[in-house]
Amino acid sequence: MSRIALFPGSFDPFTKGHQDIVIRGLSLFDKIIISIGHNTKKDHRYFPVDATIRGIEETFKGYDKVDVVVYNELTAYFAQKHQANYMLRGLRNTTDFEYENSISQVNRSLNKSLETVFLITSPELAAISSSIIREVHRYGGDVSEFVPYTV
Ligand code: ADP
Repeated sequence: MSRIALFPGSFDPFTKGHQDIVIRGLSLFDKIIISIGHNTKKDHRYFPVDATIRGIEETFKGYDKVDVVVYNELTAYFAQKHQANYMLRGLRNTTDFEYENSISQVNRSLNKSLETVFLITSPELAAISSSIIREVHRYGGDVSEFVPYTV
C-alpha cells in the first residue's frame, strides 16, 4: 500500500520552512499532497491563491511525488477522499505544539485511519512564518530570502 500524506496549511505564502518539511517528508512518503485550505468566499488571503499554486508547482517542478491542490472542507474528510492515511505537519516551537496537539486529536476522532506525522523544523528555518513574511512584504521589504519562488 502506498503511503500518501496530506500537507495541509494556508501557505499564505508557501515558505522555505514549508519547502523543507516537504523535501524531508519525501523520504517517508510515496506521495505528498500539498493542500491549500481556502474558502473563496470567506478567506482574505494576502497572496492570491492562484499565484501560490503556481509558485509551489514551480518549486517542485520535476518532483512527481508532490501534488498541489486547493480544498475547502474538513481536512480529515479531504484526506479520506485522497486515500491519504497520513498528515504531515511541521513543529517550530511550543506554540505550534499546543495547536497541533489539539488538531491532530480532533482529526483522528473524525478519521480513525489518519495519523499525523510531525517533523521538527530545521533550526535555520525556525524563525520563518507566513505571517512575518506578509508583514515584511506589506511594508515593502524583500522577502525573496524566505520564499522559494518569486512572489
Ligand atoms: P496553518 O494555517 O494550518 O497553521 P501554515 O501554512 O501556517 O498552516 O503552516 C502549515 C504547516 O507548516 C504547519 O504545521 C506549520 O507548523 C508548519 N510550518 C510553518 N512554518 C514552518 C517552518 N518555518 N518550519 C517548519 N514547519 C513550519
